Amino acid sequence: MIKINFSPLTWLPDEKVKVTAANRQMRELVARLADAPKYHTLTAQDRQQLIDEGYAADLVDNLVFITLRTDEPGKDVVTSGFNYAAFDTSLFSSVHLRTHLAQLSRGCCAYCESYLSATDAGKVGHFRPVELLETDQATGQSTVTTCSPYYSQAYEQRNLLFVCEACHEQHKGGRFPLAGQRQPGISIEQEQPLLVNPYEDDPRLYIRFDPVSGRAYPFDLLSAFLMETRLQQSDDVAKEIWSHPGIVRHAPDFTQLPEFTSWYHSLDKDRVKQLSKGQVSIQLLGLNRPELVIARLSALSQFHLAFKHFRHCERSDEKSDINAFINSLPILQFRSLSIDALQTWHNQSDEQDLNDAEYSLPVDSSMPERNVFPAWFRASLRYCIEESQLMETRKRNLVFLSAKDKLYGQKPKEKCVFLPLNWQRDKHKLIKVRSERNIWETSFTELASSRPLELLNLFTQNDIWVEGPFDALHSA
Ligand SMILES: [Zn+2]
Repeated sequence: MIKINFSPLTWLPDEKVKVTAANRQMRELVARLADAPKYHTLTAQDRQQLIDEGYAADLVDNLVFITLRTDEPGKDVVTSGFNYAAFDTSLFSSVHLRTHLAQLSRGCCAYCESYLSATDAGKVGHFRPVELLETDQATGQSTVTTCSPYYSQAYEQRNLLFVCEACHEQHKGGRFPLAGQRQPGISIEQEQPLLVNPYEDDPRLYIRFDPVSGRAYPFDLLSAFLMETRLQQSDDVAKEIWSHPGIVRHAPDFTQLPEFTSWYHSLDKDRVKQLSKGQVSIQLLGLNRPELVIARLSALSQFHLAFKHFRHCERSDEKSDINAFINSLPILQFRSLSIDALQTWHNQSDEQDLNDAEYSLPVDSSMPERNVFPAWFRASLRYCIEESQLMETRKRNLVFLSAKDKLYGQKPKEKCVFLPLNWQRDKHKLIKVRSERNIWETSFTELASSRPLELLNLFTQNDIWVEGPFDALHSA
């Protein structure tokens, strides 16, 4: 995700009339219900009366007035709003508005930065959802629909983004988590969204990318950790990460470092919540979904070609400012990743000569065949042990992490442990692959002869595990 400079589009005259009328009528209808008693239900007669008074039938028919029951007696909450059908979708999905929003984000999804204009795949989506889904705090699983308090944001252009279907519908949906209260209890300006807003925030303060595995990681959390435990200034943090990527070894997984864990547990609840914006955004939008990680990995090879050109210019003293060089690149998609990748290669190149597309990982030096697998593959491969399998011996699930992180670790019953591979020890163990039709055996040596795309397909489509003398892991 990268910063988008917002500018509004002037509504066409008839659109302006519709938007103004809809906003006014919605405000008035909700105000009318402000004094309605708890548990009141809107009857057909009530609705007909409102229509007779001149309110639009679409709004009246979809006006919702409900009393949400709570466990505390007398504390039930009254809420009012509109069903999605109340909104005039032709206004926020008109071709000229969509074209305008697409231009603001260079034809890319405002969340994942995939280039959409080539296939005309982009759509307009609400940042604050006009159809809100709230996660049940008690179970953490089921989502209950309430009428959205954000009906007033339906036609606000600052609330509209050019997005892809996967980010907006398959992942984000109607969810909009906050660090504190939601309006109408407080005003929209006072809300503290846990979703990064590319119009309002600088997304790079919250989300950055590992140039080896192509995965997104929460930069806000990592910065706070480095600044508080290693006494660095905020300006130094990015430079440090670019110069020594090993500091965040497989960047997305720095949260597994023991030093991180003890620091994180020392934080109070409020601080944890404040520092969760990057992480929540990555999970909510599915920014490490396999298809996206694959697209980023493929873009990395193009960035590397560009970097080789930069090195050439640098040597001949033509142009040596890396920031100016990055800005001048004709890159549409994954700009944020391109900054992290090019800066990493640039900052590392002072210390070592780069001859290929990978920087050397400060791990796995024990593996004689360390160059057999691409760095992104080594950085992404993990053993996974679900809570229910902690006592299991002789077997570990083998995961290409980006394919699995959406599935594990977010809910209590799916809690699991990810362990890095010890290549030296584990390379001889038997690997089993279960496809839809059968199970077959393989080995790291055999996998090493696969082409990158085949490896990706293997890990994103099949269940893979390793058998060998593994000990049980005791639950912490
Ligand atoms: Zn997207």
